[in-house]
Amino acid sequence: MKKTVIFGGTFNPFHLGHLKLTEEVIKLIGPNRFILMPTHIPPHKIARELMSDEDRLEMCRLAVKDLPEVEVSDYEIKAGGKSYTVRTLEHFHRLFPDEELYFAMGSDMLETFLSWYMPERIMQLATLVCNFRDEVDRAACEEVRAKIEALGGRCVLTDCEPLVCSSTDIRDRIDRGEPIDDLVPKAVAEYIERKGLYRD
Ligand code: ATP
Repeated sequence: MKKTVIFGGTFNPFHLGHLKLTEEVIKLIGPNRFILMPTHIPPHKIARELMSDEDRLEMCRLAVKDLPEVEVSDYEIKAGGKSYTVRTLEHFHRLFPDEELYFAMGSDMLETFLSWYMPERIMQLATLVCNFRDEVDRAACEEVRAKIEALGGRCVLTDCEPLVCSSTDIRDRIDRGEPIDDLVPKAVAEYIERKGLYRD
């Protein structure tokens, strides 16, 4: 059966933690298609200093330009409103009815998963795949995985070293005039610099 992975996020900006998750999940799942999905309005968090949809889409495109199996989708941005994961998964399930869907996320998101909008339906539509952001997340994620499986869902945890890195940290560094080259793909750093993003 063909496999499609969807990886959603604000990507404000896209950083090396996102890239590592992408590469690890491709290695683990071996999907036919990996879809990077910048959200329009994230439902699960308050987005600070959110750059435009176009800038975030472009940063995603630049970040994965050397990964042929990854495509960047503007589905959530075009759909508008709050980017509920369940809505996105229903869309791709209709589009690819015979494929197995996976929804990728970091451990902070998995920890809150059961309080998302319609988690049961999400579990019917997709297997969750989670990459750790920090070693301390492991126990909490195992607990959530056990709950998900008790409810009939499927959840896979990757087994790689976490890469501690966040978009918040990158925005703060830019604010302080510090370099970000070791935290974002080169083409993304150049784009941020050229467009003067995240500078007040
Ligand atoms: P912010 O600091 O603005 O809250 P973020 O760094 O958490 O942003 P998002 O775009 O919100 O980045 O994250 C998108 C997805 O990528 C989420 O599922 C998140 O858990 C995951 N993720 C983010 N950073 C990492 C990382 N360093 N390692 C693994 N997964 C990550």
